[in-house]
Amino acid sequence: MTTGYVWHELFGWHDTGTNVGILPSDPAAGLQPLQHFENAETKVRMHSLLGASGLQAHLEPLAPRHATEEELRRVHTAEHIARIREESTWPKGGDAGDGFSPFGHGGFEVASLAAGGAIVAAEAVVAGDVRNAYALIRPPGHHATPETGMGFCVFSNLAIAARHLLATTEVERIAVVDYDVHHGNGTQAAFVNDPNVLTVSVHQDNVFPPDSGKLDERGEGRAHGTALNVPLPAGSGVGAYEATFEQVVLPAVRSFSPDVLLVASGFDASAADPLARQMMTAAGYRRITSMLTEVADEVCDGRIAMTHEGGYSAAYVPFCGLAVLETLTGVSTGIEDPFDPIFSGFAGQDLQAHQQELISAAAKLASELATG
Ligand code: ZN
Repeated sequence: MTTGYVWHELFGWHDTGTNVGILPSDPAAGLQPLQHFENAETKVRMHSLLGASGLQAHLEPLAPRHATEEELRRVHTAEHIARIREESTWPKGGDAGDGFSPFGHGGFEVASLAAGGAIVAAEAVVAGDVRNAYALIRPPGHHATPETGMGFCVFSNLAIAARHLLATTEVERIAVVDYDVHHGNGTQAAFVNDPNVLTVSVHQDNVFPPDSGKLDERGEGRAHGTALNVPLPAGSGVGAYEATFEQVVLPAVRSFSPDVLLVASGFDASAADPLARQMMTAAGYRRITSMLTEVADEVCDGRIAMTHEGGYSAAYVPFCGLAVLETLTGVSTGIEDPFDPIFSGFAGQDLQAHQQELISAAAKLASELATG
């Protein structure tokens, strides 16, 4: 069986304007108009490399569709959806909710296509049309909570796909693994009371949102224990990520034994990212993806659907993405990461004692999943 792949040209047309990285331009504050960190380049170039490398020929194209109002409502409030819809008609668009997440005129159509793209990928995997799938969608989704967009995210794409599976297929239990460098707060919020969805977020401690994604956020009520957070210290590299997946993520997924694994795939833990301070490499992403495919083979017949999240190095994200897609397909294009000699040589790439301390604390929480 094949690997499904969702892409649409409109994902490159999501317009985040002339922000100065994160901040709106403001002459009085010395902020010269530039480009938003969340611009089209990282994703468009990843798509280009999949084509140029020849990997595209091994992917099964899955056409995205717009998520319906009913599908968006499974996660979001009517007020949030209505506000995005309304601001999308404004001549210059609006903002998803926090003032840092602009979208252009017609932004609703692109954002609902991204959410629908996540649905299509997850659905194809569960239906058995493809073995696994990657949805290269934009805008990203994992920060958007039921009530509001934030952190460059408009709708909570992966959560909407998960709710769709629970509502319309035989799937009863879902594990979500989020390796974007920022906390997957929106996904966590969508399932904070749902014991049938495990959310595991591996992120850099206290980057975004502020004071979010701590070890003690574990889900509420009957769902206590089914939210798991691994706030890795700044400076974590491939060794820390491998240890986190071996000691925390895989045991948690095994214990939970889901029907399908959904992965929020952000490449902003890379050594080249402007928005965080981790040191992951394409080889590191290849390694954790292969760990995820192995655990999926064990517990859910290999069913994995990934949705694209952050990653802001236009030069490096394409190589991280290629590594993940090569692993999902089992096809090697022969293109080697040209940055690897530089990034893998950074001091501290191996697991450090203070990182292990945090990982051990998270592993203890993960082990409680098995005992209830
Ligand atoms: Zn991120």
